[in-house]
Amino acid sequence: MRRSCKFLMRPTRHQVIALTACLDDHRALYNAALEERREAYKRTKISIRYGDQSAQLKEIRACIPDQARWSFSSQQATLRRLDKAFRAFFDRVKAARTPGYPRFKGRGWFDTVEWPKDGDGCRWDSQPGPPAATFVRLQGVGHVRVHQHRPVQGRVKTISVKREGSRWYVVLSCDDVPAETLPATGAVAGIDMGVASFLTTSDGAQVGNPRHLAASADRLAAAQRNLARKKRGSKRRRKAVARVAALHGKVRRQRLDGAHKAALALVQDYDVIAHEDLRIANMTKAPAPKPDPDQSGAFLPNRAAAKAGLNKSILDAGWGVFLTILAHKAESAGRELIAVNPANTSRTCARCGHYAKENRVTQAEFRCTACRYEAHADVNAAINILRAGLALRDAAAA
Ligand SMILES: [Zn+2]
Repeated sequence: MRRSCKFLMRPTRHQVIALTACLDDHRALYNAALEERREAYKRTKISIRYGDQSAQLKEIRACIPDQARWSFSSQQATLRRLDKAFRAFFDRVKAARTPGYPRFKGRGWFDTVEWPKDGDGCRWDSQPGPPAATFVRLQGVGHVRVHQHRPVQGRVKTISVKREGSRWYVVLSCDDVPAETLPATGAVAGIDMGVASFLTTSDGAQVGNPRHLAASADRLAAAQRNLARKKRGSKRRRKAVARVAALHGKVRRQRLDGAHKAALALVQDYDVIAHEDLRIANMTKAPAPKPDPDQSGAFLPNRAAAKAGLNKSILDAGWGVFLTILAHKAESAGRELIAVNPANTSRTCARCGHYAKENRVTQAEFRCTACRYEAHADVNAAINILRAGLALRDAAAA
């Protein structure tokens, strides 16, 4: 199994300068490579590939001493990152979606450098002297102290440095991480994901949408309005940008924390967990905006766009993050996760199977018009999701 773990680094003042230079030079390389691809395409309609650009690295390093300070492999990783951006761009063009050409990265928009192999320009847990704290050695930076708050499992494969505001992190991607299988509980559950409650289980347990997340979302919305009023290039604007970035970071950390707790509780209690397939759920819940035929690039308002606010987008992102974490934990614990088409799960009676729009009295209330079964609407939906999940499982076993 592959896992990544993230630790806070404690760089010295000099190391912060070196780390910043490392990001800046990798950003310059990225932008130069992007420029080359753009120009070549504009002038000659020739596409430049990763291989072509990687072959020039030696020469670049010989001509620009600043670039030669850093690891060859990390520079290749940065060129590969640009290649990936271009591939995604061409995929979007092919799919006839709004393409969005890969962009030049401004200061503050390039915060990660990756070393693709431990031992090549970097070394995890390298000791500069007699064994003391944990250090990571990075070419051009030196031994940076790491606050290693938990043990690393498996074999370290790649090492990345990440800047988040004024903090620096090291992210290790590890291979061969042993699974920690949990004992069977004999219990199964369906979960319904919603707006009023983040999730509801078929047993009737609810995990609310954390209030502090909603509060942060409100503050974030206010900070973004404030930012929109600032003049470009002004000192106040720079401050407002930093505030928005800090709040984004806070929302992200709160969301991750809540998702980890909710997923852990589910994995500890249940052997099988059925959930809505988010890809299908998003298609049925939020229709894509219609492109305006008169104005290229503009979109006609529709009901989904009118309803969508920052709060909603934060919740949507929250489900995606939660399901990713749940999938990791389930795999590690040896639990089974089943994604279910959520169509009709909220309007079908969990007791008699009767389907009617009128079954759903309010957002929270479910009352079957055929058999009079009454339940919390989310619990009713969660039971339907569980039943659909178990049916899929039986079908797969047969
Ligand atoms: Zn019924």
